Amino acid sequence: MNLLIMGLPGAGKGTQAARIVEKFGVVHISTGDMFRAAIANQTEMGLLAKTYIDKGELVPDEVTNGIVKERLAQEDVKQKGFLLDGYPRTAEQAHALDTTLSTLHIKLDGVINIIVDPAHLVERLSGRIINRKTGESYHKIFNPPTDYNETDYYQREDDKPETVKRRLDVNIAQSQPIIDHYRTKGLVYDIKGDQEIEFVFEDITEVLLKLK
Ligand code: ADP
Ligand code: AMP
Repeated sequence: MNLLIMGLPGAGKGTQAARIVEKFGVVHISTGDMFRAAIANQTEMGLLAKTYIDKGELVPDEVTNGIVKERLAQEDVKQKGFLLDGYPRTAEQAHALDTTLSTLHIKLDGVINIIVDPAHLVERLSGRIINRKTGESYHKIFNPPTDYNETDYYQREDDKPETVKRRLDVNIAQSQPIIDHYRTKGLVYDIKGDQEIEFVFEDITEVLLKLK
């Protein structure tokens, strides 16, 4: 299965992606995770991406399109299918993805669109904590890890309040045309994201079992 998971920052994409990958065996491709890995490794691309990410801005399309294209061409994607998380985020990226997929002879099966009232997102993002080893996201109140401590978990730099607002503004402005692009192709499955994590996953599972 070849899937996109969409939703504003904090909608629950990463949380649900981890569960989808476990149940359906697809390859998780998160552009945000790829940028954070590049930053941690201090690659040239990582250092460039960091200048945008720290401000809550999007990394330029040509950089982002390049890393996704390269990743989608790898063998594991062909064998297992993929779940793209956090991409595309601009109309230009959506067009680049169409071209990449058709060049690679890959068909997109569905777009999981997680809808959450934007009023809840600041609270979700400001309480988000990440496991340093696995990269998985938890929440101090809504999804606390059993082994929480300040060494093994950290708060993302761009989840601090000053940056969160900018990220939400940028993403709200860009997201609608992209959803519309896939909706006209009949690929979008809207999922109610304002419910407990396990119920969101049940709704997603119902959709994916039909697509399989
Ligand atoms: P995204 O990848 O879309 O930015 P995450 O999956 O990292 O979002 O989730 C953002 C924050 O909200 C995390 O702290 C996560 O634990 C929490 N969260 C995710 N889904 C829910 C939910 N259904 N209800 C409450 N909190 C949630
Ligand atoms: P995320 O982990 O998806 O919340 O992404 C964190 C940050 O990485 C975003 O705020 C952007 O700065 C950058 N980023 C992630 N995905 C993209 C993308 N598709 N296009 C541009 N920038 C991105």
